[in-house]
Amino acid sequence: MRKSVSTSKDRPLFTPGPLTTSLPVKLAMLRDLGSRDNEFLAIVREIRTQLLSMGGVCQEDGYETVLMQGSGTFGVEAVITCAIPPDGKWLVVINGAYGDRIAKMCTINHINFKTIKYPENSVPNPIEIDNALSDDPTITAVAIIHCETTTGIINPIEEIGRIVKKHGKTYFIDSMSAFGAIEFDLQACGADFLVSSANKCIEGVPGFSFCLCKKKALLKTKGWSRTLSLDLYEQWLGLETNGQFRFTPPTHGILAFKQALNEHLEEGGVAGRAVRYKLNRDTLKVGMDTLGFEEYLEPEHQSYIITSYRYPKHPNFEFETFYHKLNEHGFVIYPGKVSNSECFRIGTVGRIFPSDVQSLLQSVKLTLEEMDIYSLK
Ligand SMILES: *Cc1c(COP(=O)(O)O)cnc(C)c1O
Repeated sequence: MRKSVSTSKDRPLFTPGPLTTSLPVKLAMLRDLGSRDNEFLAIVREIRTQLLSMGGVCQEDGYETVLMQGSGTFGVEAVITCAIPPDGKWLVVINGAYGDRIAKMCTINHINFKTIKYPENSVPNPIEIDNALSDDPTITAVAIIHCETTTGIINPIEEIGRIVKKHGKTYFIDSMSAFGAIEFDLQACGADFLVSSANKCIEGVPGFSFCLCKKKALLKTKGWSRTLSLDLYEQWLGLETNGQFRFTPPTHGILAFKQALNEHLEEGGVAGRAVRYKLNRDTLKVGMDTLGFEEYLEPEHQSYIITSYRYPKHPNFEFETFYHKLNEHGFVIYPGKVSNSECFRIGTVGRIFPSDVQSLLQSVKLTLEEMDIYSLK
């Protein structure tokens, strides 16, 4: 385990993203490469290959990577608006805010969809998805979130993938907050499209998302896009024919991402990154348990990406005060997003180490004392 080195005066981010990045990742951006520069185009090619290998696949297996400008949501919306034909229909599996967001994309884009909704603290039931697909044969594709960052819950994407494939439907996984840190088998999942972004577990800077696509599924989408800029097929064609983005690429973010990928590899790939994030999360759990905080999720559903904590019932606890005082101590946590329960979230991803989590915990304790809270138990 490498020691935590403070690389900037900025507060470490215990959030779902953007996240703390390493100094070399930030330094990689101190250049101005043109969008047609050969060095830049070679880096884009390498990144596309490296991302496939992070997913455990390669071009020879029939997979392609498309990079898309914009934040993660842009990549998700690209798939939602491209991956089904004009008369197609999505089945959106929802157990949090990011699932809800996909349903909203369908509404805004006038795309037919159906939802299957679960409480935010429970995982989707594969049997019910099987039944939903049997009941409505007009459904063409299924969308699901890998790690619902709303709470930190992990969804059973492999099990559900087998059902989606049994019905011969297109399968899309929003793996934004999981890809690069949670080991899974892309091929076994049967994923046709998987989206993540530069600034989550790969620890790059914000600016683009990427989509791992089954080539067969991607080729079928030609002419299906509802927009010009988010057209996955055309974006892929551009990258394939002259290696370029169709519109201004996030050149600096791509240089940073290349460095982030190198660091990911140095850390031992997905498995290595998982080790550090698990240590971060274990450190957090022990400390928060000791202080008397209560987790929102049952332990069997909880990921090591982000943890939701219920607001303590103590009469002196007030989240805004807690949040701002922690900020003054130099730590950024995140408000909750759960709809039926008052929670806040602490992320354990990004360029942070167990020692950073320890420092956060010390400040949480101090902050509580400043609020005249000496025990939560
Ligand atoms: C972060 C996140 C998104 C959205 O990403 P933005 O970069 O904020 O647009 C989508 N889905 C999940 C699961 C996420 O964690």
